Amino acid sequence: MKMTENCGIIGVFGHPEAANLTYLGLYSLQHRGQESAGIVSSDGRSLRPYRGMGLVSEDFTPEAMRRLRGDRAIGHVRYSTTGSSHIRNAQPFTVEYALGGLAIAHNGNLTNAEPIRDDLVAHGSIFQSTMDTEVIVHLIAHAREPVFVDRLITALRRIQGAYSLVFLSGDQLIALRDPNGFRPLNLGRLGHASVVASETCAFDLMDARYVREIEPGEIVVIDKKGSRSVKPFGRTEPTPCIFEFIYFARPDSLIFNQSVYAVRLKFGRELAREHPTQADMVIPLPDSGFPAAIGYAQEAGIPLEMGLIRNHYIGRTFIEPEQSIRHFGVKVKLNAIRDVIRGKSVVLVDDSVVRATTGRKIVKMVRQAGASQIHVRISSPPITHPCFYGIDTPLKEELIAATHTIDEVRDYLEADSLGYLSLEGLKACMGENGCRFCHACFTGDYPVPIPSQPGDAEDTPSSPMVVSGYHGVEDERAR
Ligand code: 5GP
Ligand code: SF4
Ligand code: MG
Repeated sequence: MKMTENCGIIGVFGHPEAANLTYLGLYSLQHRGQESAGIVSSDGRSLRPYRGMGLVSEDFTPEAMRRLRGDRAIGHVRYSTTGSSHIRNAQPFTVEYALGGLAIAHNGNLTNAEPIRDDLVAHGSIFQSTMDTEVIVHLIAHAREPVFVDRLITALRRIQGAYSLVFLSGDQLIALRDPNGFRPLNLGRLGHASVVASETCAFDLMDARYVREIEPGEIVVIDKKGSRSVKPFGRTEPTPCIFEFIYFARPDSLIFNQSVYAVRLKFGRELAREHPTQADMVIPLPDSGFPAAIGYAQEAGIPLEMGLIRNHYIGRTFIEPEQSIRHFGVKVKLNAIRDVIRGKSVVLVDDSVVRATTGRKIVKMVRQAGASQIHVRISSPPITHPCFYGIDTPLKEELIAATHTIDEVRDYLEADSLGYLSLEGLKACMGENGCRFCHACFTGDYPVPIPSQPGDAEDTPSSPMVVSGYHGVEDERAR
């Protein structure tokens, strides 16, 4: 069963163009998921869903948009994961139950979905999808309270893990984050309308104004009378995902109330202080390595050059799980500028090393372009543990830093030197809140209990509860 997703979510309430605004919002969040996209609109009475596989731009025809009437809507983009690429797993998910129609869009991954689901199935529940999100819907349907928000709170008390959610229920739009606040979710305004988005870059395209982030453990209930906030979990110890800053979010977004670009720049500067080197130029690995490379270059006083160029028009046909095709994919996507690199010592800056398969190919490409020395600098610590909270990292066995020393990784990359940003450096860049983030993929220190793994009683589990769909070459995100 496949239950890991990285996603982006949008909500609009009280605007005659709700579905069109949601469409724009999803467009900005496309980097958070390319497998499927969906919008559910409502006039407060009936729900109108439209879901499709693939990119936002491919899914929504003018005809489909015309049908999405109503002054409120929620939307979802889903990250592509192998094996579960099916329209029935596309969101928003809609059901009819005792209180009427309900639509839900989820970003994150529940850590205890499987036992709850088994229990529900044993008691006769029928599931339509393989998504952990559907578990939440069942728990809401099974609750007895007459008011939706009370049922929701009852359901939330059963689930654990990462969930940023938006719902359409009756005449309300509800948006919330789990008590740890793993995934981002923000509130904005557009005239009299309320808007909600995973990242603020969506507000920019919608022409909405950023108001604030929804707090960890906060439920925001929006209806015609306005909005109110419910905090059913009492005091919480938030642990937002640091990887959103390292890689996942767009640099032009604010998440967790901070600029992603500014944070990445700081990572690059700190990296330069921790791992200085003499070189002719700093070259970013496009696109995700750019902000950190700029920071590195500024701090080191070394010129930044675009030594690697990315082709942004790779079709989805290149997405294949096989190693051979993955390697081919790197060449298709990136090309070195020989005139820039020939005879030069270079610092290659990237945001993270996962399997190192991409990194190794790129080092080779830069070497073939004539670089005299290649110093690889990574603006995050070594990834040694899989994520169970919705970032689609591979199995522990496939994480190169889980099974190799840094020197061995350098040898594998065939780089002249390799430097990772330290965990302390990473935390320091986040200021006084640095310790409060989730850093589990670097430490194995999981802030929420992770599913127990068969045959793994003492050790840290070697794999998330499902096989990951990480492709190593970022095919689908084009970044
Ligand atoms: P590697 O060299 O380990 O094969 O790949 C590292 C690259 O993958 C980095 O450039 C990084 O931007 C990207 N990356 C990091 N995390 C993820 C992820 O969760 N999914 C995908 N598709 N790419 C990622
Ligand atoms: Fe983010 Fe890593 Fe924690 Fe997952 S384990 S939530 S990727 S910091
Ligand atoms: Mg990258």
